[in-house]
Amino acid sequence: MAKTIVSVSKKHNSIWRMYFYYLNDDSEYKFQSKKINPLLVWFYKLQKSSLHTNICLICDRQFQFYKNRFEADMDICAECDPDEY
Ligand SMILES: [Zn+2]
Repeated sequence: MAKTIVSVSKKHNSIWRMYFYYLNDDSEYKFQSKKINPLLVWFYKLQKSSLHTNICLICDRQFQFYKNRFEADMDICAECDPDEY
């Protein structure tokens, strides 16, 4: 299951959580949070995605997407290339 981690943070009660989007069986993005092992915080932080903005090569519109540091930039927006999602 493809997950897009958008945040890894600790609340006052010192429980680490990660917040992520995932694609469910109906191809909808759902937002969810999950308790994580404090020892694995660095691992989730590495995978964390941040919001990027780019201009679509096809329709010339600005769009936003999440990616982590290992993923390539996206040049085409979701409307022009729905298969990417
Ligand atoms: Zn486009």
